[in-house]
Amino acid sequence: MAKKFYEKDADLGYLKGKTVAVVGYGSQGHAQAQNLRESGVEVIVGLRKGKSWEQAEKDGFAVYTVDQAVKRADVVQLLMPDEVQAKVYREQVRPHLKSGAALFFSHGFNIHFGQIVPPEDVDVVLVAPKGPGHLVRRVYEEGFGVPGLIAVHQDATGQAKELGLAYAKGIGATRAGVIETTFKEETETDLFGEQAVLCGGVSELVKAGFETLTEAGYQPEIAYFECLHELKLIVDLMYEGGLKGMRYSISDTAEFGDYVSGKRVIGEASREAMKQVLKEIQDGTFANRWIRENEEGRPEFNRIAEEEKAHSLETTGEELRKTMAWINKGAKESVTQ
Ligand code: NDP
Ligand code: MG
Ligand code: MG
Repeated sequence: MAKKFYEKDADLGYLKGKTVAVVGYGSQGHAQAQNLRESGVEVIVGLRKGKSWEQAEKDGFAVYTVDQAVKRADVVQLLMPDEVQAKVYREQVRPHLKSGAALFFSHGFNIHFGQIVPPEDVDVVLVAPKGPGHLVRRVYEEGFGVPGLIAVHQDATGQAKELGLAYAKGIGATRAGVIETTFKEETETDLFGEQAVLCGGVSELVKAGFETLTEAGYQPEIAYFECLHELKLIVDLMYEGGLKGMRYSISDTAEFGDYVSGKRVIGEASREAMKQVLKEIQDGTFANRWIRENEEGRPEFNRIAEEEKAHSLETTGEELRKTMAWINKGAKESVTQ
């Protein structure tokens, strides 16, 4: 059984008298910084001049360049995109990190794949909310929390875990529960989930269904509704009650079709492919490919992104969503967070 921590297991006192520097003010940064501040923690923000800097100041934070923020901090939470963290760490974090300070992450990639190797005299802790930043903020404001993960990579002070739990409490995660993990487990499962199921798997499933219907002569608008739009309604039911809850709500015809056809679509070949994807995550093949891709200016990323944007599923959806005002409102909200 996973080890879980709740409000009573975490003491904000471990952050008392300490300054937390949140480096990066994007999806996670804006949410974690604001939640911590409202929990009574002293928070400053580290950034480069630009859009985020202005936003963080508008939100009332003292904003510094990354090196200056790190100099002032006892806890440094790195919330920039994973692919820029190593360079910023080398140039602006490492030279200014105080002995006995703590280096925090919300994803284990750079530590697990050796892109950041911290000095021995700092704590290295992962506190990862299991949800996008705008939700971390909204749910906290509503008095709840997004569940999270905690892991300790290095315990220099003997209090790394207590400090991590205090931080998790500060962002609201212990209200929902924080599960203990390792940097390795968090990194590998996070990458696998987004590649095989949440982002890669679902996108291809939707596209394959859409193409199968349109190639067979059905109208793209109908195919869009069946294969993409309705997905949200089904996923909401799963989120609330698992597969069982979803199956309770759908018709018996849909349930029978689910049982007899789902396994044909995601059959042995897909399971084998998932195992191969997992293997390449575990042995570092994917990480190396992504690091190299960034070094080379993202040729493959940009080429595929362009192809994907031009897909008829996207152009069909764009037209249909124009008339669904409530969807556009929600989409804008999450894109800007
Ligand atoms: P974002 O892309 O939203 O954050 C970008 C932020 O980093 C911006 O404020 C940007 O500022 C700043 N930044 C970028 N480059 C630099 C730089 N060179 N120097 C200083 N600041 C810089 O990141 P996320 O919030 O998505 O991700 C942050 C971390 O959280 C990652 O480790 C990610 O894996 C993890 N995570 C993310 C989740 C999510 O929901 N997105 C969920 C769970 C974990 P500027 O405006 O100047 O570009
Ligand atoms: Mg991820
Ligand atoms: Mg139907």
